[in-house]
Amino acid sequence: MQGARRENPPVSNRGSVNERKLAQDELDYRSRLERLLIDLSMQFINASEAALDERIQQALQEVGQFVGVDRAYLFTYDFEQGITCNTHEWCQVGIEPQIEHLQAVPLEVVSQFLDRHRHGEPYILPDLFALPPMDPLRQVLEPQGIRSLLAIPLYFEQTCLGFVGFDAVRQQRQWQAGDITLLQILAELFVNAHLKQRNEAFIREAQAQLQASTRLAQQMAEAAEAANRAKSEFLATMSHEIRTPMNAVIGMTGLLLDTELNEQQRDFVQTIRHGGEVLLSLINDILDLSKIESERLELEENPFSLRQLVEDLLDLMAIQARDKAIELAALVDPTLPDTLIGDSARLRQILANLLSNAIKFTPAGEVVLTIQSGHWDPEAHRQELCFQVRDTGIGIPPEKLHRLFKPFSQVDGSISRQFGGTGLGLAISQRLCQLMGGEITVVSQPGEGSSFRFRLSFEVSTTPLPQPQLNLTGKQVLVVDDNATHRQILTLQAKAWGMEVVACASAAAALTLENHPFDLAILDYHMPDMDGLTLAAALKAGDPQLSLILLTSRDQHSLTQHPAISACLTKPVKASQLRNLVQQILGRDRDGESAHGHTRSTGSNWDVEMAQHYPLRILVAEDNPINQKVTRLTLERLGYRPDIVANGLEAV
Ligand code: ADP
Repeated sequence: MQGARRENPPVSNRGSVNERKLAQDELDYRSRLERLLIDLSMQFINASEAALDERIQQALQEVGQFVGVDRAYLFTYDFEQGITCNTHEWCQVGIEPQIEHLQAVPLEVVSQFLDRHRHGEPYILPDLFALPPMDPLRQVLEPQGIRSLLAIPLYFEQTCLGFVGFDAVRQQRQWQAGDITLLQILAELFVNAHLKQRNEAFIREAQAQLQASTRLAQQMAEAAEAANRAKSEFLATMSHEIRTPMNAVIGMTGLLLDTELNEQQRDFVQTIRHGGEVLLSLINDILDLSKIESERLELEENPFSLRQLVEDLLDLMAIQARDKAIELAALVDPTLPDTLIGDSARLRQILANLLSNAIKFTPAGEVVLTIQSGHWDPEAHRQELCFQVRDTGIGIPPEKLHRLFKPFSQVDGSISRQFGGTGLGLAISQRLCQLMGGEITVVSQPGEGSSFRFRLSFEVSTTPLPQPQLNLTGKQVLVVDDNATHRQILTLQAKAWGMEVVACASAAAALTLENHPFDLAILDYHMPDMDGLTLAAALKAGDPQLSLILLTSRDQHSLTQHPAISACLTKPVKASQLRNLVQQILGRDRDGESAHGHTRSTGSNWDVEMAQHYPLRILVAEDNPINQKVTRLTLERLGYRPDIVANGLEAV
């Protein structure tokens, strides 16, 4: 900015026109100086920290030129070291710079400055030669050619940070009060700039510290994660290594059990085998958990039949439930699509764990699995399923609920010792469920039972798995079961196949319907007032054409021989099994065939006839000699003579 450089301010008073003009000039000058200072303050506010030095330099130049001094500069006070230093300097053309000589001026030299500055007041020196010749300040100022000087303190919160100074070198100068006030504003600008710089330095340091802490935390987290992964990988490897010999123990004891053993030997072998199986399931759990935690578990996407899965599960759990005389039932919403796409093995694992726990912790009553329909997303073609496993067991105290899904945690050590288990099942189930996009929740009432729930969404397959044809529409069926859940399930199933259902809770109620033309009656054997067999006989006496299915909780071969009974089924009843049976019976009984003895599902007896019925040439590729032996012996028991090789190359 080109300064309206004034020579020394007017001192004389000439004519009134002149006076007015001078007063006007003076006013113009001050208002332009004010504007300059406002401009500078805006520039300071917007200046980045890096540009601050440059701004100060420029401000000294612009103000120096404007007010018409020869030098403008900035000094800082360092009270600790007892010095003052020149940090910035601007000089008029032809004036010698001094900054290099003024880097550590002892404070004693500028004591007159300090006396004023300490109180926030400027030091004004209109005439250097008014100082005594030996005055230390004069000794310093005189060699710089200074004739007049003004030094305004940079004052902040009772502290003097330094000063901004102006020298008149070419001629003496009288400092006007108005000038001084405006220049004090410049000093304030410098103070603010200094504070800004200091604050930014604080912030920078705080940020640097924060970054360092974040980095450290990150490194620690990475190290912990790496250690965790290494642990999980180690566990996974170990589990695999343990599984190989375990396989041999279980396989060999299985083979041993097929040989002739005396009672005691058989008992020993069975104990070994049972111990082996428990150990293997524990190892499998640990392997699963470590796989999940090291993020190495991948879900599969395969089409599966929901109802088949549920029926297989019930089959799996039936023995456990039967041994404890617990009613085990499953109810799948008939409107749900059957063929879904997802990881059926992992879904089965979750449900098997929940059902097995429910049976384990239920001394009496029932365990029911229900699957209801949730949200249907037509765009993604995905169906949400709401699963629930409910029991009437011992329940879980509210304060223990939060521990349930943590690995190795059991609600009550003594109870768990009684029932066995590792405390891993729920942790694994929860993680599997989360991997599939769900979350298991639990509601429980001690002494009354528990209910575990979760929702999962599956893609619905557009190509359903093949299903047997049915034509049961309009057939009349009577269902008699004192257990409400079972009754409801049977009713819903039969209705889903198009049958017309009348359901009764007792034999007495059923007998009142004697004139109703039923095609079929499905009766529970264990009922409090009259057992199913007696009821069957009574019904058959009234209607000799009636087909009858008896449901029992135990294997009761003798019942199937009863002349009133068409077929006998063991609970829990699988829907497809019941459907096939109903179809078979209704067709056959109509044709006058006897059904006795054919309708019990018999487990397959693996024996040497297997190879005669299904002749196969079998190649076994297995590197572990123990596993080779187990496999060979097992296959030989079935009558096969396998070829065994130790690696892929040999196999090829
Ligand atoms: P465990 O192998 O011990 O059964 P889980 O993780 O499956 O391990 O279950 C952890 C604990 O949760 C069990 O030991 C038991 O105390 C409690 N629990 C699980 N399910 C039930 C249930 N249906 N009723 C009562 N307690 C249960």
